[in-house]
Amino acid sequence: MTTHTTSPRARASYAELSLYAPDRRPCDVDLSDNTNLWGVPPAAERAMREAASDAMARYPELYAHSLKNALAQYAGVDTSCIVTGCGSDDVLDSAIRAFGEPGDRIALPDPTFPMIPVFARMNALTPVPVRLTSAYDADADALLATDPDIVYLCSPNNPTGTSLARAAIDAIVARANGLIILDEAYAEFAGWSAVELAMRSHRVLLTRTLSKAFGLAGLRIGYGIGAPELVAAVEKSRGPYKVSAIAARAAMAALGDDLPWVRERVDAVVTLRARFTDALRALGLEPLQSRANFVLAPVADAAKVAAALRNRGIAVRPFEHLNAPACTPLAATRGSAIRITIGPWPLLERALGALHEVLP
Ligand code: PMP
Repeated sequence: MTTHTTSPRARASYAELSLYAPDRRPCDVDLSDNTNLWGVPPAAERAMREAASDAMARYPELYAHSLKNALAQYAGVDTSCIVTGCGSDDVLDSAIRAFGEPGDRIALPDPTFPMIPVFARMNALTPVPVRLTSAYDADADALLATDPDIVYLCSPNNPTGTSLARAAIDAIVARANGLIILDEAYAEFAGWSAVELAMRSHRVLLTRTLSKAFGLAGLRIGYGIGAPELVAAVEKSRGPYKVSAIAARAAMAALGDDLPWVRERVDAVVTLRARFTDALRALGLEPLQSRANFVLAPVADAAKVAAALRNRGIAVRPFEHLNAPACTPLAATRGSAIRITIGPWPLLERALGALHEVLP
């Protein structure tokens, strides 16, 4: 009998991967993860509390059909155009696996959602980052010049908060060969969505989430919108039972009775985002023009600023060495910036007070 002494080897591409490890230590005021800081919508919370024990003892629906109906109604599309997932992370990962063979290339703007290169490597694809233009737009020519098998776009983009111009999206959809993923995790705060493009084109998958505007990040519910044959392939890649029965019930309540609650908070974010951006300018910062529920403010030595804010009970997300577009305030700080989630004004006021003390 042979005795093996070495561990089995994981996929070669995993050598480039490390576990996602943002600073998640509890903090008095957490403005670091772009969730809904007003909390859980009330009907969703009620639905969860009232979920009968059979929602726990039995398996949920295989592919969350009832939830897909509710999402289809919300998005104004047919149920056959919806796929759900355990967070939009799951939909993104499944889509990359469904449409990318090992060794394929996925082009993405840089900077963008940092999990995309991770999902690419997890599925043995090669991420090809392409710097944003000086207007924080997707560089369509440069993205297409990489001859990508998949293009990932994000609008409003994380972490810049900026929206892509429709012209850039259209140019990419017209000329790219493979799947185009358009991540709309923050679409509610922009008041604009490319859903009609996804319905017209057979190569565009929109991904969305209930983690942001809908206040249900802990329940892990995301969805994709695209042509039926496209979402069917993502569903095969995703597999059954990915949305728990309790999460599905809460999500359906959120998409029904809670819609006015959600819309009110989205409106509040839009108003407070403008007020907070002005207040940051008054502190001498040059925040980017955000269309999301967070604002990115270039600062020298973001890690130090974030640590000093944390000492004052405020968590923000620091970024260093972002691939800053030329001739922008972000280039002036060499890609160093803090990202701050928009929430109720008293929280933002505390952040402003702490920033006032901390900034040089
Ligand atoms: N896309 C973007 C751009 C994000 O910022 C996030 C969360 N930070 C996600 C997708 C994933 O969200 P979730 O898995 O909670 O739906």
